[in-house]
Amino acid sequence: MAHTEMKRIIYVPFDHLHRNFGALKSADLAVDVIAIVESARMTTGRNWHKERLFFLISSARHFAQRLEEEGFSVEYIKAPTTVDGLKIISDKHKGLPILCAEPSSFKQYEALKKYKVTFVDNDFFLTPRPLFKEWADGQKSYLMENFYRKQRVRLNVLMQGTEPAGGSWNFDKENRLPPPKKYDGPPYLEHVRDEIDQQVAKEIGHTPTTTWATTRAGALNQLTNFIDNHFGEFGPLEDAMTTDNWALHHSLLSPYLNNGLLHASEVVEAAVAAFNTGRIPVESAEGFIRQIIGWREYVNGMYWYLGPDYRNNNEFHAKRALLPLFSDPNKTQMNCIKQTVTDINQRAWVHHIPRLMLLSNLALVTGTNPQEFLDWMREVFIDATDWVMVPNVIGMGLHADGGAMMTKPYAAGGAYISRMSNYCKGCAYNPKLRVGDDACPFTTLYWDFLDRHKEEFAKNHRMSQQVFGLKRLSDLPELKVRAQEVLKGLDEGRI
Ligand SMILES: Cc1cc2nc3c(=O)[nH]c(=O)nc-3n(C[C@H](O)[C@H](O)[C@H](O)COP(=O)(O)OP(=O)(O)OC[C@H]3O[C@@H](n4cnc5c(N)ncnc54)[C@H](O)[C@@H]3O)c2cc1C
Ligand code: SF4
Repeated sequence: MAHTEMKRIIYVPFDHLHRNFGALKSADLAVDVIAIVESARMTTGRNWHKERLFFLISSARHFAQRLEEEGFSVEYIKAPTTVDGLKIISDKHKGLPILCAEPSSFKQYEALKKYKVTFVDNDFFLTPRPLFKEWADGQKSYLMENFYRKQRVRLNVLMQGTEPAGGSWNFDKENRLPPPKKYDGPPYLEHVRDEIDQQVAKEIGHTPTTTWATTRAGALNQLTNFIDNHFGEFGPLEDAMTTDNWALHHSLLSPYLNNGLLHASEVVEAAVAAFNTGRIPVESAEGFIRQIIGWREYVNGMYWYLGPDYRNNNEFHAKRALLPLFSDPNKTQMNCIKQTVTDINQRAWVHHIPRLMLLSNLALVTGTNPQEFLDWMREVFIDATDWVMVPNVIGMGLHADGGAMMTKPYAAGGAYISRMSNYCKGCAYNPKLRVGDDACPFTTLYWDFLDRHKEEFAKNHRMSQQVFGLKRLSDLPELKVRAQEVLKGLDEGRI
């Protein structure tokens, strides 16, 4: 009886949790039923990191509670799949039309298209999908830097008239400092757990950390904490890795940006306001803004632009099964990897350099199957959504797309890791050595990788210098033997 006057069902996926965006922005208490579905496929379908499940489910339940407090009629149900859940809600409400913002993954888009769902534009990003397509259609190669500069002008962010603030579009050179000797940053924000959190934790059998907020208020606190305590120092140390401090000055905002608790425009506004006070150096402001209006928008744009089959690319025909060290840090003596996988097990997060230059680099140089690695990355990160993982792993991390996205593979040996971290000091291996029992596996495999693919790389002028370096290696035959030993040892969880 209560809902006979209702006119629509608004379906809110777990990654559209914002009152002012998506289908909810036009919601009306008097006529709209809100549907939220906790699908078993999403919660138990794969070997998801429990911290990630906890975060996603608890955020959705808190969000449902907020909508109820606002006076909405909310149907929050558990069902085998999203569509099963929508059917149950639809039957209960006599087949009312269902409205949703365009989903953020190909799979869900297809599933909802087949079902009777009407879509409104997905405005959880700053760049509408057709606008990105227009940009990409006009490019010879899809350089992020070109897209980013257009975004700065279009969105009028960090601009002084037609010129970039601080006189340069790019402060990357200033933003590559190694970690200081002993690093003691400001403490990280802790998020107190409430009843809903405890209930979710109990249901999934998990003891959550206090790292991730599960409410809008908590996400806003995280934003303020970043702006007040970390933003100013974000830039110079953004590529550094240290065992002294697990996050340095990274914002830890990706989970909220991706599930909707924060909108990119809110983060940009807060960053620009802080920059305008004059207390944030331009290299930090630019470095951070680049991540939000550049990388994040570019990656989402490319996901839709490159299409659903892009994820299956395997340019190097890489066949190796996922190494055991990815699921068990005790299966390796490589300190950098051991620490990184331990960090992931603990809180489902490491920053972009360990993701790119450690985990993806290792998968790349060992010839690990891209799809197996992608599946693992999707399962373990707090912020992993399909649209962001697929281009980052297939294009950026593994170059499995043959260069559709990035002009060259991000392969590196131990020298890079030694420069940018303090991992090597505590390691069984020596980053400078490429042969011998204590040679750094990254260094050995880097050269082996270049040698395995030298014909392909010879065609790429951005790789020619690296490939040329091979010619100077007098110990290449010995190195090839060591590479086989390393690969075997990694497969067996000994190296
Ligand atoms: C191989 C690989 C896999 C990645 N997988 C994910 C993922 O599943 N989910 C995810 O949100 N990010 C992913 N990233 C991007 C980046 O590593 C994370 O966004 C970042 O580490 C999150 O921490 P933060 O919020 O403290 O980021 P900060 O360093 O503070 O950066 C601010 C924001 O910029 C955005 N951003 C920065 N780089 C990227 C990028 N390459 N792609 C998209 N957004 C970016 C994020 O929203 C991030 O919150 C991946 C990067 C690589 C190289
Ligand atoms: S020596 Fe090599 S394996 Fe060890 S921490 Fe350094 S880069 Fe990693």
